[in-house]
Amino acid sequence: MAQLSLKKIAKVYPNGFKAVHGVDLEVRDGEFMVFVGPSGCAKSTLLRMIAGLESISGGELVIGNTVVNELPAKQRGIAMVFQNYALYPHMKVWDNLAFGLKLAGTPKAEIDSRVREAAKLLEMDHLLDRYPKQLSGGQAQRVAVGRAIVKRPEVFLFDEPLSNLDAKLRASMRVRLTELHQTLRDKGMPATVVYVTHDQVEAMTMGERICVLKEGTIQQVDTPAALYERPANAFVAGFIGSPEMNQHDVELSVTSDDVAFSFGGVRLPLPVVKADRLRSRGNGAVKLGLRPEHITAIASHAGAVRVPGTLRFMENMGSEVFVHAELGGLPFTSRVASDALGDLVGKARGDSHVFHVQMAACHAFDSANGVNLLI
Ligand code: ADP
Ligand code: MG
Repeated sequence: MAQLSLKKIAKVYPNGFKAVHGVDLEVRDGEFMVFVGPSGCAKSTLLRMIAGLESISGGELVIGNTVVNELPAKQRGIAMVFQNYALYPHMKVWDNLAFGLKLAGTPKAEIDSRVREAAKLLEMDHLLDRYPKQLSGGQAQRVAVGRAIVKRPEVFLFDEPLSNLDAKLRASMRVRLTELHQTLRDKGMPATVVYVTHDQVEAMTMGERICVLKEGTIQQVDTPAALYERPANAFVAGFIGSPEMNQHDVELSVTSDDVAFSFGGVRLPLPVVKADRLRSRGNGAVKLGLRPEHITAIASHAGAVRVPGTLRFMENMGSEVFVHAELGGLPFTSRVASDALGDLVGKARGDSHVFHVQMAACHAFDSANGVNLLI
């Protein structure tokens, strides 16, 4: 186990493409850190630089107390698990787990105890005698994780390890990996993990902290709750949360009485504390942000603003319904518990409905650079 420091890390590929622009990040000893961002934002590039599989163009990478920029992958004390786990097909699970240790000249008794320990941690003792083709996708992925565990690395690196699995299996592997991290901590052998995913649900459920990336730069590093409640900018706000936060460029209207978002005949006055933060901007463009759960179909919160809208369609998720509607000519999604639909029940496309907007929970972003104006 070790901490990991990225100091002004940059990557320029041989073709001149600048993939990473001076990334600064500290991953704490024993921490589960997730890198999340859309495809192409340089998650894999960063991970591969940490692993030593890709050269570092600028900055300093420190594992533990050692600058490892020039250290070969093998000497960095890391283990990596990929999306394509590529087990050796002609070897049984036991040998797949033991292979790396054998190569490294680890004594046989030691190999044996480490393989048994990993198998126990991953609840796969019963699989040790099987060949890879006799495993399900989830079991094979567990073996791939086991191969990393037996190495007892300083740092575990995961690059989208679950993206080849179906949705159900992904959900159960998510829980399993999170529990594994906690089990290792409980046993006094905490593992430092950097886990890459493009899936914000995986990021939110697994990460102790999450690093949100966009085009090779860090947008925000924070706990899942902080990212959700206090996104640094409109990009993070839009990336984290499902359904996505409603965001629209609207007018900020400042009067002596109040400060309000204004669009298509709708006025949404801000609560005093938030209004005070925005008043000095005066009238002008601003980006409004509203999470779907803060637009409700029935009056449920004191101080909510009533807004007439037109129903477009409803997506029934079972316990809740995503209601798509037009408010002031703009599309909004509202997320409502199935038993809180009120008289939306039975309404159809084109029908009008009065929604309730909880302005205490609204967000405002600079419409030019996206910076959150209310944190
Ligand atoms: P992610 O893992 O977040 O999807 P990558 O790290 O794979 O993103 O890629 C980041 C960016 O670097 C992308 O724009 C990609 O096209 C580019 N890239 C990746 N590998 C190379 C390479 N070998 N040469 C040039 N550009 C590359
Ligand atoms: Mg990738």
